[in-house]
Amino acid sequence: MDLRYSESEQSFRAGLRAWLAEVVPTLPPKPSNLDWPGRRAYDSTWQKMLYDAGYAGIDWPVEGGGRGASPVEQLIYLEELERAHAPYVGVNFVGLLHAGPTVIVEGTPEQRARFLPPILRGEQVWCQGFSEPGAGSDLASLRTRAERDGDEYVVTGQKIWTSHAEVADYCELLVRTGPEGSRHRGITWLALEMDRPGIDFRPLRTIAGTTEFGELFLDGVRVPVANRLGEENDGWRVTMTTLSFERGTAFVGEALQSMELLRGLRQLARSTGVWEEAEVRRRVGHLGAELDALWALARRNVSQAARTGVPGIGGSVYKLALSELRQRIAELGMDLSGSAGLVWDSLPGFGAAAPSSDNTASSDNTASSDNTASSDHSVPIGNTEIVNTWVHSFSRTIAAGTSQIQRNIIAERILGLPKG
Ligand SMILES: Cc1cc2nc3c(=O)[nH]c(=O)nc-3n(C[C@H](O)[C@H](O)[C@H](O)COP(=O)(O)OP(=O)(O)OC[C@H]3O[C@@H](n4cnc5c(N)ncnc54)[C@H](O)[C@@H]3O)c2cc1C
Repeated sequence: MDLRYSESEQSFRAGLRAWLAEVVPTLPPKPSNLDWPGRRAYDSTWQKMLYDAGYAGIDWPVEGGGRGASPVEQLIYLEELERAHAPYVGVNFVGLLHAGPTVIVEGTPEQRARFLPPILRGEQVWCQGFSEPGAGSDLASLRTRAERDGDEYVVTGQKIWTSHAEVADYCELLVRTGPEGSRHRGITWLALEMDRPGIDFRPLRTIAGTTEFGELFLDGVRVPVANRLGEENDGWRVTMTTLSFERGTAFVGEALQSMELLRGLRQLARSTGVWEEAEVRRRVGHLGAELDALWALARRNVSQAARTGVPGIGGSVYKLALSELRQRIAELGMDLSGSAGLVWDSLPGFGAAAPSSDNTASSDNTASSDNTASSDHSVPIGNTEIVNTWVHSFSRTIAAGTSQIQRNIIAERILGLPKG
């Protein structure tokens, strides 16, 4: 294994860094979390800019509109985006990070040509219709039914917690095509067009006040058979591919975001003087070390995906570690905020006091061992960001499969322990 960057990787990094330095400062402010059509327009415009500059789908195949580059370049891409404080994927999360990758692995050449380029250009937003009121952790018990009628399926049922469905064009939809009780053997994976008659979306409001997800009611909705990925009743296998991308590689960028968050908290601790307390330094050091380990795991998952086509079951280890670590970072933020953590609106001057003159920054363990983002890129962290991070952190051990379920998977399928 050669841990050094090759000349072409270094030149990729330099080109991307220069491009980001030019365009990121020109971007308008991001619309609020309450304005999803505005967020779609913002995220899609950014995605189109990436595409036009040759920076969309770094590790996607060239014939699907991607760059066909190595996983190392994909990681460099994520590092540089975070370093430049560039926008993240936003409403394009499902399309770019797990529906698209599933189409790459499981789709026919026609499906790849049809779905991949528009996702990369920011023209096709996807959502995920897996969970149902009676099927979350036990996904194989889903009941949304699809009956074959000629060249179409007719779908009736209900999905829930469907993130970004309000602004999506397609939904990766799991339906039951086998007999009731057929569980894993009777599921099919369909790409549902969201403008079809018979679809009713009702938003749900989260603890943060936003309507980022909701309920999806499907009443006799017609889906062409050409929109099926894999064979009829073979959707569980396709679903495992989707979930391994969702858990194994989709959240890789969030490890870098968490490092940046921790750097912001460290700066806050310095500005308020609590950095003098050994316990605070110890907590920051522990979290930094865990983030370094997590980043190593992320790199492993990305290279495994490049080698074998999918990240595999190790994605559960990454997902479990990231979501629980993120909660501990969020708790540190609230502890450091004191009474400012009780206020959602931005407090002027919070965290902006000059950092102390000690130069412990260079010895901190919060940046990963390579040059992902040196400590001089932190901007003062605001109390609103801390409160938002904390409030959102609760959902992290539920979304994309709960921590209990990840532990079951790790115990049974990685460690080979007996079923509970
Ligand atoms: C922010 C957010 C966004 C989401 N977005 C989407 C989306 O876009 N599309 C989508 O399809 N879904 C989405 N989900 C749904 C998510 O996948 C489910 O919430 C999750 O799989 C858990 O299912 P459930 O809510 O039905 O809980 P349940 O399955 O009812 O679980 C309840 C509790 O029981 C525990 N439990 C259940 N079974 C076991 C077991 N066998 N062993 C040990 N403990 C167990 C669980 O860990 C949990 O603590 C989202 C969820 C959140 C929070």
